[in-house]
Amino acid sequence: TGMLYLVGTPIGNLEDMTYRAVRILKEADLIAAEDTRQTRKLLTHFDISGRLVSYHEHNKQASGPELVRLMSEGQTIALVSDAGLPAISDPGHDLVRLAIEAGVTVVPIPGANAALSALIASGLPTDEFTFIGFLPRDKKDQQRELARLAPAQGTLLFYESPHRVVRTLEQMLESWGDREICLARELTKRYEEFGRGRISGALAHLGEHPPQGEYVVLVEGRSAAETAEAEAAWWKELSLEAHAA
Ligand code: SAM
Repeated sequence: TGMLYLVGTPIGNLEDMTYRAVRILKEADLIAAEDTRQTRKLLTHFDISGRLVSYHEHNKQASGPELVRLMSEGQTIALVSDAGLPAISDPGHDLVRLAIEAGVTVVPIPGANAALSALIASGLPTDEFTFIGFLPRDKKDQQRELARLAPAQGTLLFYESPHRVVRTLEQMLESWGDREICLARELTKRYEEFGRGRISGALAHLGEHPPQGEYVVLVEGRSAAETAEAEAAWWKELSLEAHAA
């Protein structure tokens, strides 16, 4: 049977394309792309003349089974997204599931990824972290999600657009208090920038320098002290209940 390659592509800097990614894209029978026009530009830059088909959020229901049928017949398909790793806050996961079910071999071709690149330079703990990606847009849903994440102890990783980053930070401040954060902007590009400090400081900065470009927001997890406090309160509540019973 055929193969499904999940090919990482640059997140802004074309030098982050790997030799292997170029070769796989050249050899694939078909390249499935989130946005074929965007990917055509990348292919042209690397002198790759691949056959492109679109695979995105809105056609994946129909397109997925068709791609899997082709792979079952022996074709090799390379999946790319607009930037970074497919299936990370991008289409791909559903296709991977279908391919696995059909017995197609799935091969990752590692490449750039915004969240992990931001994390390793953030200065926040890297030993334990939770990748969230985009928070829900609806305010109520977002508040619920932030409440759910409040007790997490590892570093929290989010993707955010320049239009919503301020509102999101305000919600985090309200929900979690003034935690330590890092804002990573325009990674691998000319205006790459890291802002490190507390949520209040980031908000003050963004008040003077309106957000621009793409952001990864990294937030420290709940501190050991806060966790101890929360646990003490929990035990206290339990023992009160025990007395009442
Ligand atoms: N699949 C991608 C990956 O592996 O990183 C993520 C795609 S997601 C649709 C796009 C979001 O990733 C942006 O809104 C931004 O939060 C983040 N992002 C992508 N490129 C970035 C960059 N160069 N600098 C900072 N954040 C970036």
